[in-house]
Parts: sequence; C-alpha cells; structure tokens
Amino acid sequence: MKKHILILGAGISGLSTAWYLNKRFKDEIKVTIVEKSNRVGGWIQTINKDGFLFERGPRGFRPHPTTLALVRELGLDKELIYADPAAKRRYLYMNQKLQPITPPFLLRLGLLSVLWRERKIPPSTEEDESIESFFLRRTNRRLAETLIDPLTTGIFGGDYRKLSIRSCFPTLHEWEQQHGSIIRGMLATRKTRTKSKGPLCSFREGMETLPKRLAERLPAEIKLASSPEGIEADHTISCLPPPDLPRVTLTTVGLGYRSPVLKKRGFGYLIPSKEKETILGVTWDSEIFPIQNQENQTRLCVILRESEDPLQTAQEALERHLGITAGPDVCEINVAKNAIPQLTVGHHKREYEGVCSVGINNCIVHAEKVASTGFGAHKLGITSAI
Ligand SMILES: Cc1cc2nc3c(=O)[nH]c(=O)nc-3n(C[C@H](O)[C@H](O)[C@H](O)COP(=O)(O)OP(=O)(O)OC[C@H]3O[C@@H](n4cnc5c(N)ncnc54)[C@H](O)[C@@H]3O)c2cc1C
Repeated sequence: MKKHILILGAGISGLSTAWYLNKRFKDEIKVTIVEKSNRVGGWIQTINKDGFLFERGPRGFRPHPTTLALVRELGLDKELIYADPAAKRRYLYMNQKLQPITPPFLLRLGLLSVLWRERKIPPSTEEDESIESFFLRRTNRRLAETLIDPLTTGIFGGDYRKLSIRSCFPTLHEWEQQHGSIIRGMLATRKTRTKSKGPLCSFREGMETLPKRLAERLPAEIKLASSPEGIEADHTISCLPPPDLPRVTLTTVGLGYRSPVLKKRGFGYLIPSKEKETILGVTWDSEIFPIQNQENQTRLCVILRESEDPLQTAQEALERHLGITAGPDVCEINVAKNAIPQLTVGHHKREYEGVCSVGINNCIVHAEKVASTGFGAHKLGITSAI
C-alpha cells in the first residue's frame, strides 16, 4: 500500500519537495499538494502587461548545480537564459551619485589591507552574532557599511544589524570557525566547495516557467484554493514559513518605457542604509535579460519597503538618481506582504519540521535534502550561497 504524503504550499519549496520525493520513493508514495491560493509558484510570479515582462518576485537565480540539474530534468534547458555580460557591472548609490563597483573602488575602500589583516583576527567564541558585528570584527566599519549592508538588503531584504551570520551566510561562519578566517577558509575549500558560478539565470518567458513546468510534470495531485482539512495522510510536510518567524514586506514597482531611458549599462544599484534614501535599490531588468524585451523597451524594477504611494516614491527616486523624468508607459506594483523570513541572531536553535528557505537555490537544495533523508524534522535554514 502506497504511503500518502501531504505537502502544504505549492511554492518552489513545496513543488520541488514533491519532485524529489517522487524521484526517490516513486513506487512507494502518493503525493498531494494543498495550496491556499488559486495558482502555483508562491512568490515566483511573472506578469505580462501591454507587451512588458515584469517579475513580481525573484528575477533570477545564480546557476547552482542542484537547480541546473532540476532544470535539465524538467526539459527546460532551451528555455534557460543567462544575464547579459553588460550586467556584470553593478553600482552603489552613494553621496548622491552612482558608484560602479570596480577593483579601483574596492582598493579605495582598503579591501586589500583589510583582507591581509583578516587572516590574523582570531575566531569568535560566540555561537552566533549579527552580520554587522561579524564584519566589524573581521573587516572595518567602512567596508561593512558600504558593501555588506546593501548586499544583505539585496538578498534578505532585512537589517544586517539583526540578521544572523551563522544562518544567513553559513559558509563565512564555517570558514571562521573551522579555518580561523574567511581568507583561510576560502583558500582551503577552493577545490571542494559547491559554487554557484556564472551569471544570473532566468527563463525566456520569465521565472514562473519553473514552478509551472514542475506542476505539469509532477505525478502529484495539486489542490488549488484548498485547505488540508479532512485530508488523511501518513505524513504531512509543511513548505510554508513558520508562523512565528519575523518577516519583512517588500514592494516592487516595475516600470516599462517604450524608449531607451537609461544612460548607463549594468545590473542596477543598491543603496547603503546610511544614505537614508526612500528606496532600497533598482534592477535594470531590460539590461540584465535583454532577450525578454520587445524592441526598444526599458524595464526597471524599483525595490522599496512599504510606502503610501510606491509609484510616486519610485519615480522621484529615479529622477534624483538616474535623471529619468519621463513617466513610464506601463507600471506594475506589487506589495509582497511579509514575504521574506528573517533569520535573526540565534536562529540556528529554532526547530522547524518542514521545508522553507530564503532564495530559490536554497529552497531547492533544502527540498532535495529533506527528500533524501526521509521526512523527519529539519531546521529551517540557508543551505547554500544564493
Ligand atoms: C520581491 C521578492 C524578490 C525576490 N528576489 C529573489 C531573487 O532574485 N532570487 C532568489 O533566489 N530569491 C528571491 N526571492 C526569494 C524567493 O522568491 C523565495 O525565497 C522563494 O520563492 C520562497 O519559496 P517558498 O516555496 O519557500 O515560499 P512561497 O513562495 O511563500 O510559497 C508558499 C506557498 O504556500 C501557500 N500557502 C500559504 N499558507 C498556506 C496554507 N495555510 N495552506 C496551503 N498553502 C499555503 C502560499 O500561497 C504559497 O503559494 C525574492 C522574494 C521576493 C518577495
């Protein structure tokens, strides 16, 4: 008799957990996925509006081997696209101007001498600490405030003074604990570690291609607009964020123009919080994945926290930062309420029976791990670099 596995949530965590369980226990299980909303994909949602492609959630993922293998298994290789080489250039908005992140800029921040000294700084004896405190100990305030603070906001949408180094950047924590420093750890593991190498990836028709194809190919029943009430199962796996975890809300404002409005090329920019700006950053989506554009389109995505008038806030910021005065031809506003779980200091002690991570690669790697170890208790956490 087949065991009945009930999965809660048809986001990427739930769908990939079902995929790996079916792969491993094919003839022994029957899987049902229960999804509260009327669609699959969770935060992964691609919108086509008046000929413009907008991502409401993630716009891409780093090419992690586990995710790429899943893409191949789903026959999506031909749909996979890579960021344009021009998108290698990233910027920070500082002192009222765009600053490209280049080797000379990093040298001016004192990166070389910081890294030289870093080798000799003893590891912490604390179990965990904030990302800010880790980098203040191991580097310096200038580097932490200029690079690490906006990087943390870009990945986790949260405050680097509260988020845990151990849970958000487990590799850095391990390198310090096992090898004595970041530099030593990096050198010691350079041949063995699993890396997400290469430019950001997406799909020709946008990120939603992945959950849609998973749902099509899964030998599982997916019940949309449903609740688990009354369903009898041998095991239930929650692929929902734990209810007691703090979460942040992000607003994305997608702006589409039928003309080239950007004066620079690149990925976009993030803003260190000491700049006290109204937005967190902007991705230049038409530059990152030009293959998704129709002719002459510019697609920008302004990321901000909650705002009374997100469109006005976004437009004012674009005028101040990039000199864009023209109004967009099309716009798409999405408030991702309580979207990103915050792994704060001490998070590693939290017990959670289920699958939930932050970032597409982490969700998929975590799902594979849960399926390969059976379906016991698993801690929520980041299992790989995003
Ligand atoms: C604006 C934004 C930008 C992002 N950018 C990136 C990026 O560029 N790269 C990246 O890797 N990651 C990015 N992320 C993070 C990434 O999208 C998430 O980590 C990932 O999609 C989480 O997937 P999940 O399946 O764990 O959760 P979710 O996507 O939240 O899915 C959970 C599902 O469960 C359903 N559900 C909720 N409650 C119940 C219930 N009681 N019963 C049944 N179903 C329920 C929900 O409707 C949802 O479909 C971004 C996130 C946001 C919001």
